[in-house]
Amino acid sequence: MIYEGQNLTVSLLDNGFAELVFDAKGSVNKFDRQTISDLDEATQAIAANSDVKGVVVRSAKPAFIVGADITEFTDMFAQPEEEILAWVAKTSKVFDRFEDLPVPTVAAVNGFALGGGCEMALACDLRVVDTTASIGLPEVKLGLMPGFGGTVRLPRLIGSDNALEWMTTGKDRKGQQALNEGAVDAVVAPEKLAEAALSMVTDAAAGKIDWQARRASKKAPLKLNSNEAMMSFSTAQAFVAAKAGKHYPAPHMMVETVKNASSLDRDGALALENQGFVKLAKTDAAKAQIGIFMADQLVKGKGKKLAKSASKAVKMNAVLGAGIMGGGIAYQSAVKGLPVVMKDINQPALDLGLSEAAKILNKGMQLGKVTPEKMAKTLNAITPSLEYSAIKDVDLVIEAVVENPKVKSIVLKETEQNVDDDTILCSNTSTISINQLAESLEKPERFCGMHFFNPVHRMPLVEIIRGEKTSDDTIAAVVATTLQMGKTPIVVNDCPGFLVNRVLFPYFAGFSKLVLDGADFVAVDKVMEKQFGWPMGPAYLLDVVGMDTADHAASVMAEGIPERMAKVENDPVTLLFKEERLGQKNAKGFYNFSKDKRGKPKKDAAPEAYELIKPHQAEASEFSSEEIIARLMIPMANEAIRCLEEGIVASAAEADMALIYGLGFPPFRGGIFRYIETMGLANFVELADKYAHLGPIYQITDGVRQMAAEGKSYFA
Ligand code: NAD
Repeated sequence: MIYEGQNLTVSLLDNGFAELVFDAKGSVNKFDRQTISDLDEATQAIAANSDVKGVVVRSAKPAFIVGADITEFTDMFAQPEEEILAWVAKTSKVFDRFEDLPVPTVAAVNGFALGGGCEMALACDLRVVDTTASIGLPEVKLGLMPGFGGTVRLPRLIGSDNALEWMTTGKDRKGQQALNEGAVDAVVAPEKLAEAALSMVTDAAAGKIDWQARRASKKAPLKLNSNEAMMSFSTAQAFVAAKAGKHYPAPHMMVETVKNASSLDRDGALALENQGFVKLAKTDAAKAQIGIFMADQLVKGKGKKLAKSASKAVKMNAVLGAGIMGGGIAYQSAVKGLPVVMKDINQPALDLGLSEAAKILNKGMQLGKVTPEKMAKTLNAITPSLEYSAIKDVDLVIEAVVENPKVKSIVLKETEQNVDDDTILCSNTSTISINQLAESLEKPERFCGMHFFNPVHRMPLVEIIRGEKTSDDTIAAVVATTLQMGKTPIVVNDCPGFLVNRVLFPYFAGFSKLVLDGADFVAVDKVMEKQFGWPMGPAYLLDVVGMDTADHAASVMAEGIPERMAKVENDPVTLLFKEERLGQKNAKGFYNFSKDKRGKPKKDAAPEAYELIKPHQAEASEFSSEEIIARLMIPMANEAIRCLEEGIVASAAEADMALIYGLGFPPFRGGIFRYIETMGLANFVELADKYAHLGPIYQITDGVRQMAAEGKSYFA
């Protein structure tokens, strides 16, 4: 043994080659401070040993190295810029020293080699990967860029166009694709990896592969003349502007860095990478996206733990109601291998539910993502029925009939009488209290909310609502089923609208009041989409939700929380609903929906909607972007704070994930609590106070006022 660190070792084999093996204690291989220090010491030990003829770098785990240790980022990035710069410069020098070893080096890559793992492989002279390998630089997903030489070595290896595509999208490559692009030198079967790497390093040491030339080109400026460089970087800039837009600084910084470093050698280029990395580490977007990563880990961890505690596995589902939601839920269950009975009260509804599922599968086939066998298997796993007898043996029933408490109570009661004692009942209600629905049941402990989002096959979130009488075992089984169905469960406590709709309706109310105060709904949509970053502005979103659904849900919310959510007088939503302007479903709402000459769907602001609103509207006036954002986002933030204070949701991190996964909250803002934190709690309080006269949805809780005064954080 030449070197033995905590997370890696180096041994000298009989043939004179050294093997550097990553084998982290008790975790996957990742670059935390300890491993970087180990790598530095290991490199020095190899350099000091004149018997070493070459080095193979490999992993003793199912993955090569999954990346940097992201849990270390939050503390590290809170430090001043100079300290982060010192850290990243020092760390990237460790990789340089490894690259500069006087002997050839070969990476033998299995499983994931992502971020720092990919950069380790790039620091080697040659790379052989097995067929399980995925290699890539996903830092952009955290609002960052590679910091251990990735922006320098990858463009010099595969060209700046390809490298920028890798880095700005963050997508990883399987072995064969990486080979085609020149990022690796061979792809072999997993059992041949060790042998192939050894044979490659032997050939290199024997001079059969010119490893010195390969190394030299990685350390030299990019091979581009000025015309090529101009073409390449202006194309990349345009690609990034179109794909990422202005809210995500990381991809822009990558293009700038690679461009400015193109005429520099390794040391000069790395200095630019170091600086770019630090700038990004200090952005709000990086903070938000790293926050999302951590919150996602928390949500996934909680889900897995709960699922493990379930006493019974769900093997068959039923869904009641074959409408938009029922059809979507049946599809999702079937496609993930959970057979499902789909029950409705009329045959045309069942036919429609099945044809919806077939439509999604057909689209998948057109894209080459679904095989004919998969389509047949999925459709066969859905059993349509008009009879209760069809659901008597199922383990879990999801009620998705019309949003009417009386109808739902009757349906749930009938269902309970037609299934086994231990069958779990869930409701997909969007707004009605689970405790209220539980009143019609004999076994309320076997009942909870299971709230999917529309369209079910696309939206990752399922809000699981625990009623007062719901048992822990019921929650565990529903969480397990949600995971089986490929969705992300977040458990919340009961209240009207639960978490997601409870915070969405005050936002809609803020919009309605702003429009009545004279704002143009198109201008509001533009600000909320372009400036704030929502995928749809509120008027467009209401058109998608449907004015009937939105108006009805607003009534349920008003009944449940009258002190804040009383219906807005002359609410534009109600005005449109009364005139049957239902939104996208009948092609007329705030917008008129039609097709352009080429048959592409388009939407235009509806003159009819303006006419309907005008008699109830104050004189038209211009509102600044800041005011529009404040008047919509403060009500949402206030309600989220109340949900946290009342224990409806367990943590700010889970609330943030629920809004990102359920509503498409802009990821670069990291969720509603991260948004408040980025603004600063004291600033948020000051801003909300400025609008407090507009009504209770703008008035903050004592809790947040106190937290702001004490300088506390929701993420402490
Ligand atoms: P929908 O009107 O499209 O479908 C309701 C279906 O229920 C219809 O096919 C109807 O025939 C059927 N039905 C009525 N009474 C029945 C009974 N007694 N037994 C069996 N089937 C019966 O409604 P939807 O949009 O799918 O909404 C269903 C539920 O999901 C509602 O509670 C709604 O609040 C909730 N939800 C809807 C959305 C959404 O965006 N549409 C999102 C989340 C949750």
